[in-house]
Amino acid sequence: MTDLLVRRARLPGHADLQDVVVRDGRIAVVATSGTHLPEPAAGSDEVVDVEGQLVLPGLIDAHCHVDKTLWSGPWVPHSAGPRLVDRIANERTRRTDLGLPSPEYAAALLRHMATLGTTRVRTHTDVDPGLGVAGIESVAKAAAAVEGLIDVEQVAFPQDGVIRRPGTVELLEAALDAGATTLGGIDPAGVDDDPLGQLDALFEIAARRGASIDIHLHDTGSLGAWQFGLVAQRTVAHGLQGKVALSHADAIGTVPDTERLRLIDLLAESGVALVTAAVYDVPVPSVLELAERGVTLAAGSDGIRDLWGPYGNGDMIERAMHIAYRNGVRRDEDIELALDCATHGAARLLGLESYGLVPGAPADLVVVPSRTPAEAVVSRPTRSLVIKNGRVVARDGQLVAV
Ligand SMILES: [Zn+2]
Repeated sequence: MTDLLVRRARLPGHADLQDVVVRDGRIAVVATSGTHLPEPAAGSDEVVDVEGQLVLPGLIDAHCHVDKTLWSGPWVPHSAGPRLVDRIANERTRRTDLGLPSPEYAAALLRHMATLGTTRVRTHTDVDPGLGVAGIESVAKAAAAVEGLIDVEQVAFPQDGVIRRPGTVELLEAALDAGATTLGGIDPAGVDDDPLGQLDALFEIAARRGASIDIHLHDTGSLGAWQFGLVAQRTVAHGLQGKVALSHADAIGTVPDTERLRLIDLLAESGVALVTAAVYDVPVPSVLELAERGVTLAAGSDGIRDLWGPYGNGDMIERAMHIAYRNGVRRDEDIELALDCATHGAARLLGLESYGLVPGAPADLVVVPSRTPAEAVVSRPTRSLVIKNGRVVARDGQLVAV
């Protein structure tokens, strides 16, 4: 039985409008509109005619922090000092009074993201001696509340450092027991002042437990570049190619040109991905250079309305626009590389076995009133329809009651 038939869809890479047949939550057939299908039996199938609108695969937010968000809660004016360590300290001081981590705020944000066409997120959840794994449990509760709308996977994130906070290594492993699938890290040199200690601890656990690794690396210049090498060496040594990522990776935008290209080749050879958020004045990697040299680049919102800053709205098409704009690209094919960070690039980062607008992939689709992906990125239109696992979950920016 056909569960859902999406008619007259404009799919990237197809000259003609296509019909997409969904069965059991997965794409079963993609074929030129009107050429192949028996009429669905009346009353047994849902048919959606999207009338030539663009259909994209479900968007992926590959780096956010839903445990930190104040979404749907009070407006909280920013109160931290200007440095990274100031923001870490401010959050530790204020989070409990503000009710963080809050499964209600996290679920509210995840629902909002679903209305924007995001069908999957990788969220970095704080794990530290003050909280233990309560954040992991809080986000798991939020994820359960939005099941069927948006898939959630968690990174156990040592925001406050690993080695400098005794007990954190053990907590990271406990977080895997509590449901996290990826180990996070943070500035092994800049925050921990013990790069070998932090990285050796993370890679030992990851290799033993089959976990992925995704490290926040804000360290700039030669200090950051040196840590690229440490991560690449350990990735290869432990056979973790394709399972390791550097988030932000500010060094790549703060070293000379020849060094930058050496770092990109190092990432390509060691199978280490990059994740960018294109926020504030943080350097943004070149989508052109990374694509040309075969490095996976994914995108995420990073913080959304939290103690780290007031910005962010969870819109991954808007995030792609920021990446394209910060890259200074104007051609359609280059703008599409920015959108790829929130679709296929993110799917590669997460190691999804099946993804996209092809038979066999989960039927996660977002429909927008645009003619090309580049037009969608530039215009950031209201999402006409969001389909998750073959079910319409949002229409015109609003969740559909089920
Ligand atoms: Zn982050």
